[in-house]
Amino acid sequence: MAPKKLYKRSQSKIHKRGLFAAYDIVDETQIIQYIGNKVTNKEADDIYDESFEKSKNHKEGGAVYLFELNKRYQIDGNVPENTARLINHSCDPNCEVEVEKGEIWIYAIKDIKKDEELSYDYGYDLECFEDHPCWCGTDKCVGYIVAEDQRNKLKKKLAPKKPVRSSVKKKKVKKTKTKTKTKKKTKANPPAGGKKKK
Ligand SMILES: [Zn+2]
Repeated sequence: MAPKKLYKRSQSKIHKRGLFAAYDIVDETQIIQYIGNKVTNKEADDIYDESFEKSKNHKEGGAVYLFELNKRYQIDGNVPENTARLINHSCDPNCEVEVEKGEIWIYAIKDIKKDEELSYDYGYDLECFEDHPCWCGTDKCVGYIVAEDQRNKLKKKLAPKKPVRSSVKKKKVKKTKTKTKTKKKTKANPPAGGKKKK
């Protein structure tokens, strides 16, 4: 007997489609597994580069669905059967991603009411934040999809200050693949300073 699905897809106010609670969900409930192809870090880099190239040609941007599983492997969640990839980012999320025993799962981090949209912190690196505007609409929204632990830095960056010529816009190198706990792109459980610089 298949366990009942706690989620359902629907149109999202945040971005296109999203996943929503099909029932009331209690804090800490395991909601859905983030599935995909297991790839080596090297393969993941190639996938990353490729979708970054694509993103230059598409307004929508090439979404990257890489999650670090461990030191050697990542999960590429860009497969149709990975329903969890529809979950949107929020600056005030109700879910988080956990890696355990080689699997990636989305957990509730608060009680979630039926029909509420599920979200987690994508944990993107601050670099190239302009490429990832956030429309989560929560009170905590900083306007961009950036890992929670880097949002203060972002706020400082965005704060009005004396005009500086061409504010530190770095050449668009690849976005660093860093996520704090939750990510579409990587590092599931970053050890201190888990920042992968490219
Ligand atoms: Zn936001």
